[in-house]
Amino acid sequence: MTLASIRQAPKAVLHDHLDGGLRPATVLELAEDCGYDQLPATDAEALAHWFREAADSGSLERYLETFAHTVAVMQTPEGLRRVARECALDLAADGVVYAEVRFAPEQHLERDLTLDEVVEHTLAGFREGERLAAEAGTPIRVTCLLTAMRHAARSREIAELTVRFRDRGVGGFDIAGAEAGYPPSRHLDAFEYMRANCAQFTIHAGEAFGLPSIHEALAFCGCDRLGHGVRITDDIFDSDTAEPTLGLVANYVRDKRIPLELCPSSNVQTGAVPALDKHPFDLLARLRFRVTVNTDNRLMSDTDMSREMLKLVETFGYGWSDLERFTINAMKSAFIPFPDRLRIIDEVIKPGYAVLIG
Ligand SMILES: [Zn+2]
Repeated sequence: MTLASIRQAPKAVLHDHLDGGLRPATVLELAEDCGYDQLPATDAEALAHWFREAADSGSLERYLETFAHTVAVMQTPEGLRRVARECALDLAADGVVYAEVRFAPEQHLERDLTLDEVVEHTLAGFREGERLAAEAGTPIRVTCLLTAMRHAARSREIAELTVRFRDRGVGGFDIAGAEAGYPPSRHLDAFEYMRANCAQFTIHAGEAFGLPSIHEALAFCGCDRLGHGVRITDDIFDSDTAEPTLGLVANYVRDKRIPLELCPSSNVQTGAVPALDKHPFDLLARLRFRVTVNTDNRLMSDTDMSREMLKLVETFGYGWSDLERFTINAMKSAFIPFPDRLRIIDEVIKPGYAVLIG
């Protein structure tokens, strides 16, 4: 298995941030267009390097600071549209056939766009990207998730925005941002609104902060998926033995097939896990949790889906059937109608891996 062969494999990503995946050259060009002069570098290579280094600090808070620069150049219709279009194209070129890309509309209001306009321009960019990707022979379907910032107070409004756009390409809702001090239960009315409207959501939980955050996200908020959730390992005991024991929360996550949106490189960069070979991905996979592979922020982690999968292959010795299982796990967990999920699994993912497995 090589990077080139993994690129050929059909892949699905559930956890990818729009403002974490810009092309460095695009950041520079959009900054020039909109008069943003705070960028830490003036050429694409140096800028790419800066993002990678700044994100490598081992602190989620420092990591999140890098987003000030990407968000700053995504404040205009053209900026949003271009970033969304290129996102779809870049994912498609990497062999991703289904993607859920999230962003926080409330962070894109600096130049007088309304929340609805921000979402409309972004969706238009995704649709353009899908069209161009199909023309290039690499079809992809992109679903947008809307994120509310956990330190802010607009989550109910963003939940309403999500429901308003549910038939126009928005698949679900999320909360993100610094976890410590901002428990998910702070946004209970947003989650209640989502549940009352039979709408789905994921919650960033168990990344920087431990088990209580995961417990709240599940038991009080009722999330359908967990963003990261790596700290579920706090509730798994004797994990170095043949028969680890699971606590109440870990059992619940496994029994209910709650998908874990694991992001290997990002989890190391933010210090959620100390090193890739210490990542609980393999433990969770062996215990048959519903694990999925994700990119989180392709720019900050200098990565893509193929590179994340290659790292897992090199670290844990996975083969094609493992990568197929993780991909089907993701597709089963997607926030699109069940028949659409089945169609992608049966008509795209399984035939694609059948060729690779040989
Ligand atoms: Zn994330």
